[in-house]
Amino acid sequence: MARRKREAEEVRAQRAVIVRGRSDEVGRGTAMPSSWGLGEGQQIPWEYAPAPESRDIVQLKSRYGLFVGGKEIAPRSGQWFTTVDPSTEEPLAEVARAGVEDVEHAVGVARRAFRREWGDLPGRERAKYLFRIARILQERSREFAVLESLDGGKPIRESRDVDVPLAAAHFWYYAGWADKLEYAFPGRDPRPLGVAAQIIPWNFPLLMLAWKIAPALAAGNTVVLKPASSTPLSALFFADVCRQADLPPGVVNIVTGPGEIGMALVKHPDIDKVAFTGSTVVGKEIGRAIAGSDKALTLELGGKAANIIFDDAPIEQAIEGVVNGIFFNQGEVCCAGSRLLVQESFADTFIDRLKDRLSTLRVGDPLDKNTDVGAINNAAQLARIEEMIEAGQAEGADMYQPACELPARGWFVRPTLFTNVSQSSRIAQEEIFGPVLSVITFRTPAEAIEKANNTPYGLSAGVWTEKGSRILSMVSQLRAGVVWANTFNRFDPTSPFGGYKESGFGREGGLHGLLAYLDLDGGH
Ligand code: NDP
Repeated sequence: MARRKREAEEVRAQRAVIVRGRSDEVGRGTAMPSSWGLGEGQQIPWEYAPAPESRDIVQLKSRYGLFVGGKEIAPRSGQWFTTVDPSTEEPLAEVARAGVEDVEHAVGVARRAFRREWGDLPGRERAKYLFRIARILQERSREFAVLESLDGGKPIRESRDVDVPLAAAHFWYYAGWADKLEYAFPGRDPRPLGVAAQIIPWNFPLLMLAWKIAPALAAGNTVVLKPASSTPLSALFFADVCRQADLPPGVVNIVTGPGEIGMALVKHPDIDKVAFTGSTVVGKEIGRAIAGSDKALTLELGGKAANIIFDDAPIEQAIEGVVNGIFFNQGEVCCAGSRLLVQESFADTFIDRLKDRLSTLRVGDPLDKNTDVGAINNAAQLARIEEMIEAGQAEGADMYQPACELPARGWFVRPTLFTNVSQSSRIAQEEIFGPVLSVITFRTPAEAIEKANNTPYGLSAGVWTEKGSRILSMVSQLRAGVVWANTFNRFDPTSPFGGYKESGFGREGGLHGLLAYLDLDGGH
């Protein structure tokens, strides 16, 4: 046992950078310890062969206009911007930069489509379109997966196995409700709200689109959606899916452009419902902007989730759960398990194993099927993550980064683990939105609850223990909208998702997700 531990330490010391203060670059091909049977200075004897997914399936045009009234149109503003591949910093395409006049036009078109057709279409007819969209998304799943990884930087393994299948699943699920609204809310008279303004972020562009558009359409609303400026392409390809599905013109409209266009959309007097996912700062701005109006609002904002590990947790599963919790999508996940709370008696063993696991993560080309951690979505986000890593070091926490080599171009960060983190430090309090994990220890369940709830956020949490009674007791005390037990980052269209406190309000998914787009009293 002692020998195994010594050898593991020896390996890690050579493969990793463990510093207090700053990190030094150590690349792949590092010399291995003598116990590996390699001579002094010899290199790791093997390397994964590249396994890139072909990008040929995605046919990119050089320019994309707005999608309004079922057609692609040039922006009235006459302006364009470029979207880039975060793993190479190469341009992918030009995209319309909408102006206020374009927002005005799109909202008018959505209103007419609501009044003339969609708002009164029987549920079973709306369902047909949603079923069609779901099926087309599945048929074009490989294309969407490659596109999502190209534009967003996420590993193809995740866009292929999570983002695209879940997006299709949301359309399947809400298609099933479209003609059963009166059964979903018995004794009520559910009616659509009207025109919804939907603003989505860059971390799950297609999936967030599906979370928003599927329930809105199932409930009989029309939408104007603004994707994030760093990931507009999957929404624009989705426009093509709408055309393929023969969706009546004007039911879905997609307007690309900067944040101020999002604000113009939100403030537009003919908008009935606003749904926003993104930062808490912008969420608050939107809340202030529409305060006093009768617009319905749902906000899905940031998080600082605690992943709580008790000493009786199944260690292998818990290690995988922690890795999935914080390194899935490079940690750019609102519900990421960015605070690891480990029971003190178990902490050394657990952290040891976690470091071993981190040293096997592969960082690099998002289109490579072996990649675990892809590119950071945009340069501003990379700067934010790097700033927070520096802050963690300056505050005296111990940093561990595996010694993986980063690609020469593109926006990448090594998976980062901080131990010896104080509760008040920035890396324990602020949302980093990157592959950075802060470890805090606790002794008793009460202490775990107190530390887990000590955050302005309240989106998600995880509990790992063998005891069912302890899970139930913890879940009832954690102030988080979603609590996973012995798993993490599981999503299902039937299950509501949303937060407390600065993580926002309202729920997406499940029946609750429909509620956000309905007036249950038929407008009486
Ligand atoms: P934002 O909240 O700025 O962006 C989210 C969406 O809102 C984008 O479509 C953006 O457009 C739009 N937007 C920006 N400003 C406004 C505005 N004033 N009014 C209306 N819409 C607006 O997030 P960032 O991209 O700047 O990321 C910053 C931080 O936010 C991250 O570091 C992370 O902590 C957090 N975040 C949280 C997310 C979550 O899922 N909870 C998702 C994304 C970020 P545009 O892209 O054109 O600016």
